[in-house]
Amino acid sequence: MATSIFKQEHELFRRTVQSFLDSEVAPHYERWEGDGQVGRDVWHKAGEQGLLLTDIPAAYGGAGADFIYSAVIIEEMAKRVFAAPGFRLHSDIVAPYIFNYGSEEQKRTWLPKMAKGQVITAIAMTEPGTGSDLQSIRTTARRNGNELVLNGQKTFITNGGLADLVIVAAKTSASAGAKGMSLVLVETDRAGFKRGKNLKKIGQHAQDTAELFLEDVRVPAGNILGGEGSGFAHLMDQLPRERLLVAIDAVAIMEAALGWTVEYTRERRAFGKPLAELQNTRFKLAEVKTEVTVARVFLDHCLKLFVQGELDATTAAMSKWWLTELDNKLLDTCLQLFGGYGYMLEYPIARAYADARVRRIYAGTTEIMKELVARSLFS
Ligand SMILES: Cc1cc2nc3c(=O)[nH]c(=O)nc-3n(C[C@H](O)[C@H](O)[C@H](O)COP(=O)(O)OP(=O)(O)OC[C@H]3O[C@@H](n4cnc5c(N)ncnc54)[C@H](O)[C@@H]3O)c2cc1C
Repeated sequence: MATSIFKQEHELFRRTVQSFLDSEVAPHYERWEGDGQVGRDVWHKAGEQGLLLTDIPAAYGGAGADFIYSAVIIEEMAKRVFAAPGFRLHSDIVAPYIFNYGSEEQKRTWLPKMAKGQVITAIAMTEPGTGSDLQSIRTTARRNGNELVLNGQKTFITNGGLADLVIVAAKTSASAGAKGMSLVLVETDRAGFKRGKNLKKIGQHAQDTAELFLEDVRVPAGNILGGEGSGFAHLMDQLPRERLLVAIDAVAIMEAALGWTVEYTRERRAFGKPLAELQNTRFKLAEVKTEVTVARVFLDHCLKLFVQGELDATTAAMSKWWLTELDNKLLDTCLQLFGGYGYMLEYPIARAYADARVRRIYAGTTEIMKELVARSLFS
């Protein structure tokens, strides 16, 4: 559904994205689901076509476009139920950290290679012992002369299996609380950096999600991103954007699921007539249509705010929890109307359902989002 925020140039770009996904992702997706990760060549091809780092300035290799271009890519991937390749994390989460907080040298070293798909990136905050409570991370980055020595363990890291560069959240001071956390750029070919197994998940099978181990990994002190002790503040600044990305995903998939279900219930017959003629089907899909429409209006409102630089953390949290809870509910409703076929992975609704569950968990759980909204009420 195109709305005013998607202008003609975005719709033209949408066609480029669609043709890329149909030719470079769709034919391989089933194999990637089996492999648990995508191939590197799709990253190179995406880079060649200008589909990575779209809103990073051209001076650093990006496309210099507005954020709505990123939204178009996320929407088109969502509609095809492509949880991978992890372009979103790379282009729309990691790149903004480097662009916003990196030194000129860091930006020039990494962003052009990231834009070409030559360097794949990840961000590692979560640890086995803590996810929601980020201040409690235990990974350390201790100074030793001109170097930092990192030790710790990270888990559930998207792109962790393929990444060449990881932004690691680590404690540079154990006693300074939130001000003791820093973000450190860690090249994955450094001695002491090890990847654990590619984690088996209930959905998003083509997207690699890995454990990472840091055992006396030495990096130059210049690898700190945005100043020592500023890591927690930078995470708090960037997480609203990450939450909005998940909300975009949620709305696009709801819209797609409604389309598939209308089509299916028109064709499928029971008791001598199409399912679409049963009042239950009609009323359920009328509810879905109404809720998706309200969702789209709210999302576009958030997108507009974001583009104007006015999306606050509370509104981002509202969009994240409400739209992902809604998408999980509506996907369940739609799947039910497919009967047994809804449980078969050859139908996109099945993969959409399995892939959806994590949206209520990653980028901040529903409960943490509600806590953030509540804080704004009672602060
Ligand atoms: C597929 C996948 C990909 C991921 N990708 C990344 C990644 O790329 N990088 C990264 O750093 N992390 C990543 N994560 C981690 C993700 O962000 C965390 O799983 C999430 O933040 C929750 O943390 P946790 O798993 O430690 O759960 P916990 O924090 O242990 O929470 C467990 C339960 O307690 C609830 N809870 C916790 N605190 C509160 C509270 N104060 N009030 C009420 N309820 C609360 C939670 O809502 C949840 O229901 C990914 C996770 C998954 C599953």
